[in-house]
Amino acid sequence: MKLCMIGTGYVGLVSGTCFADIGNQVYCVDKDVDKINKLNSGFSPIYEPGLDELIQKNFKAKRLIFTSDLKKAISSSDIIFICVGTPKKKGSLKVDLSFVYKCTKEILLYSKKKKIIVTKSTVPVGTGDHIEKIIKKKKKLFSVISNPEFLREGEAIRDFRYPDRIVIGSNSIKEFKIMKKLYAPLINKGSKFFTTSRRGAELIKYAANAFLATKITFINEIANLCEKSGINVEDVSLGIGLDSRIGGRFLRAGPAYGGSCFPKDTKGLVSLAKKYQTNLSIVKSVIKSNHDRVDLLTKRVHKILGNNLKDKRISLLGVTFKPNTDDMRDSTSLKMIPYLCKKGSIVSYYDPTGEKKEFKNLTNCRFKKNIKDNCINADLIILLTEWDEFKSIDFKKVVKKKNFKIYDLRNLYTAYEMKQNKIKYYSIGRPKIN
Ligand code: NAD
Repeated sequence: MKLCMIGTGYVGLVSGTCFADIGNQVYCVDKDVDKINKLNSGFSPIYEPGLDELIQKNFKAKRLIFTSDLKKAISSSDIIFICVGTPKKKGSLKVDLSFVYKCTKEILLYSKKKKIIVTKSTVPVGTGDHIEKIIKKKKKLFSVISNPEFLREGEAIRDFRYPDRIVIGSNSIKEFKIMKKLYAPLINKGSKFFTTSRRGAELIKYAANAFLATKITFINEIANLCEKSGINVEDVSLGIGLDSRIGGRFLRAGPAYGGSCFPKDTKGLVSLAKKYQTNLSIVKSVIKSNHDRVDLLTKRVHKILGNNLKDKRISLLGVTFKPNTDDMRDSTSLKMIPYLCKKGSIVSYYDPTGEKKEFKNLTNCRFKKNIKDNCINADLIILLTEWDEFKSIDFKKVVKKKNFKIYDLRNLYTAYEMKQNKIKYYSIGRPKIN
């Protein structure tokens, strides 16, 4: 099939490349010319394991075309996926749909023959209806479908190839059939093809993300209780997760959830519920609890350092919101690092995906090129993101200071190994070993 992905970010680029890899011809369009140039030289502008190789393979096979020429891409395609960002509006819980509506107008402008418009971006209930209003002049040319994306950054290629389910929202059997044909290689490998109304599909995406955010927040709060009551949260996670009604995934206590989806989608869902005069009190509490968590963890840093952050050398390992991605959106580090700097700490960080523009203007914060340079002078090391390369650091060899401490926000290490090495060690929801 001939496809066009508008928006070549985490979703558009990965799904476009994977669609090409299963035999489709895919135009990946972005208004960001630098991104397109980088892609045309064979490299991904985002860090996603395995993506560079897959791009190069499909680019060479001429199944994957990167362009800023929206007119050519739209006129050459039968199915157009909208994959642009849907951020939170500033100062409001509402979703900013301006990118979605802008590219809808462009689709309208450049379409001369029948096309299917598919929203892959996460959009609130009723967005498909609004897109139909925008295109009403040429209504007969288009059908509008919802196909929310569930891939996770860091595991995006696997998630695209083996999704638990493919959700398609439409009111037309004909369009379901076309989408089923497009996804046939994945359905044949066992992925469920789930059809519903367009508005239903739009809500499924928000409800799924809010539920997952709730699971994370729930176990984070249980971890707080464990810390006070001397119980190991990992035992509790396992003990409840073994119940198939609950399931063990998304039950790892850690920092506040972040990333480009959960924070904005929980807020977007609350805003949607308000529009329909419904009170989603659980989701509201989740948002508040997650917001408070960053403060709670920062207070703990104060305590670990004897309530005095001034001139303390604090080294962070990892600053992205999770490993295997370069995505910084809503990472705990975005709040924690500026706070520590403001309080007079000398902060350094190392992240496998390199220096971050977000911290460039902070006078007390430096990026270090490797683990050793980052940790050598540390009073406190904060493990924020559990990259594989952090798993086996010999801290005693790396850190010069005698009484340095480690605050492990991902429970990557064990209290036992730290005790063996005589390192003062703090983690999440686990009892101390004395
Ligand atoms: P992103 O910011 O990485 O990418 C969006 C891209 O769209 C940018 O490159 C931008 O330049 C481009 N763009 C915007 N307007 C355009 C236009 N008119 N024409 C051409 N290009 C345009 O965003 P993302 O993380 O890929 O997310 C996209 C959507 O998918 C969002 O709605 C998000 O909630 C949803 N989603 C994201 C993930 C994820 O893990 N990132 C997972 C599932 C769903």
